[in-house]
Amino acid sequence: MPIDALPRIGLGTYSDDNRDQWDDTVERALDVGYRYVDTAQVYENERYVGDGIAASGVDRDELFLATKTVHVDVPPEAEAVPEAIDGCLDRLGVDAVDLLYVHWPAGVYDPDVVLPAFDEAVADGRVRNVGLSNFAPDLLDEAREVLDAPLAAHQVEMHPLLQQDELVDYAQRHDHWLVAYSPLAQGEVVDVPVLRDIAEKHDATPAQVSLAWLLSKDNVAAIPKASSEAHLRENLAARDLELDDEDVARIEAIDREKRLIDPDHGPWNR
Ligand code: NAP
Repeated sequence: MPIDALPRIGLGTYSDDNRDQWDDTVERALDVGYRYVDTAQVYENERYVGDGIAASGVDRDELFLATKTVHVDVPPEAEAVPEAIDGCLDRLGVDAVDLLYVHWPAGVYDPDVVLPAFDEAVADGRVRNVGLSNFAPDLLDEAREVLDAPLAAHQVEMHPLLQQDELVDYAQRHDHWLVAYSPLAQGEVVDVPVLRDIAEKHDATPAQVSLAWLLSKDNVAAIPKASSEAHLRENLAARDLELDDEDVARIEAIDREKRLIDPDHGPWNR
């Protein structure tokens, strides 16, 4: 298994509006047992996430904190990247993050400019692990060549309607985490008949079946976003749901592919 500090279920924190809800939601999530929080510079909520962590009373050492920088609009100058990293740490109110991702290999992304700045942040202790998000296999190969730090995680959209076999296989071969974003297909999994059937069989919910399917795969972790305490608890409890081979085979036979996050700059659109 890859780095063992990363819990298999974390809290996703992206929302279009009500960014100021995240201090309360993060505090509630830590209270019900989450120890992994995922955010990003572009979500414009790092300050609230940091406030929620501070208010929770959970020791920083017990928490796995991940954020992302280098979106399409980060300026191309090399000195902009260390500044962007410092900005994340300042807003989160921490000295270091456990995982820092390149958010998109797009726009101004240049591996020879961005990745040495990430390595430097690892060397000086501001960043404990390096991740990449929304990459394709050739871009992962290129980045791993440039990076001194080992690749700890690749974060991509993954759920029963977008199964990402090639990237899971890549993660297992190179022994990094594949962190599944939108692991509930933004709530759509609740209406998938196969998942509803399997949920009924296990006295569980379709959201739990989706998460348990992700966790049935080596090297895969998931970061469902949830606001209500009921959803927070339900999603964390998916760790205890064990699917059998027949359940997994039925999910893997779902003949539908739906990508929800699909900007033009996604490398799959090249
Ligand atoms: P998601 O986690 O698949 O789904 C979130 C939606 O599902 C919300 O509407 C939520 O409602 C609902 N939900 C949560 N738990 C549920 C349950 N047990 N039963 C039924 N519905 C439930 O979608 P996401 O927010 O797109 O993805 C999760 C996280 O991934 C983001 O928050 C973000 O941190 C990350 N992400 C990263 C990227 C990237 O480019 N790297 C892109 C997209 C997302 P409530 O809020 O009402 O509970």
